[in-house]
Amino acid sequence: MKKIVVVGSINMDLVTNVAAFPKPGETIHSLGVGYHPGGKGANQAVAAARSGARVQMVGAVGTDSFARTLIDNLAASGVDTDSILRKEGHSGLAVITVEQSGENHIVLAAGSNKAFTFEEIEGRIAWDEAYAVLLQNEIDWETTVSVMRAAKRKGVPVWFNPAPALKLEPPVLSLIHTCILNETEIELITGVKVAGTEDAARAAGQLLEAGVTQVVVTLGDKGCVWVGPGGESCRVPAFRVKAVDTTAAGDTFIGALAAASCDGMPVTDALRRAAAASAIAVTRQGAQASIPTRQEVDAFMEQTVQGGEMAE
Ligand code: ADP
Repeated sequence: MKKIVVVGSINMDLVTNVAAFPKPGETIHSLGVGYHPGGKGANQAVAAARSGARVQMVGAVGTDSFARTLIDNLAASGVDTDSILRKEGHSGLAVITVEQSGENHIVLAAGSNKAFTFEEIEGRIAWDEAYAVLLQNEIDWETTVSVMRAAKRKGVPVWFNPAPALKLEPPVLSLIHTCILNETEIELITGVKVAGTEDAARAAGQLLEAGVTQVVVTLGDKGCVWVGPGGESCRVPAFRVKAVDTTAAGDTFIGALAAASCDGMPVTDALRRAAAASAIAVTRQGAQASIPTRQEVDAFMEQTVQGGEMAE
């Protein structure tokens, strides 16, 4: 079986819960503390690995004490971590304060995620074994584009999730094979206001014209729309579940989709599996902690077929 190569971010999310945000200059007591491995790259790598894919993670951690935890955590899900660099300085860190109301403040310190260059990782990428190279927008942009160019030269499809959202120009779009993005992200790129599946398909059509081979627009609880190379499209509804935390829904969807596609599954089946994996993820708290295994997705889909609808 080929590998999914993820070139992306690895973070520690440091979460403190508070009754109310402190005012400037004020010190308050926390109600609870959590250390949660995250980063879009790592989340997608974990999602693909738990879905049964062989996954190589390429990225960097720092020389702080979180580095070992972050690597061990990826390895525990079956991700190959041998190619992760260690850069002097701190690992990617998100300092998150969550108020009882549910509001949050996030300070993101990219650290080692933005400290590595294409030259440092080029030789580490398992190009010959790669089904696809999966990228997001949380590492240095120059590095991202260089990986895309190299993949194109080597004939390895680039799967790109432009998150956090950014404007993409045609020369970059032409390097992307599969673009997976939510409505906000595709709106920023195409200027098309996406209110539903028809708008999503229309916006995706623009990406195809710019040279992208296939596009998946995710629409939260409205499911997703896929548009393929010849302009053909399909809509896959979301599974009806009781959502408690939608963190990492997109990352779970993308990892599961990549794994199913790498496994040779037809696109509509792969999209349905991705929808099932992400539906499970939104019924659970947390980011990586909420990402289901292949067996859990199998059981969920079986129950759904039999029962018609899946509960929490
Ligand atoms: P992102 O997290 O990138 O904004 P979305 O919110 O579009 O991504 O979610 C990605 C996928 O996760 C959706 O296409 C859908 O399959 C699933 N999903 C998200 N929210 C829900 C929900 N409330 N109920 C069921 N599935 C959901």
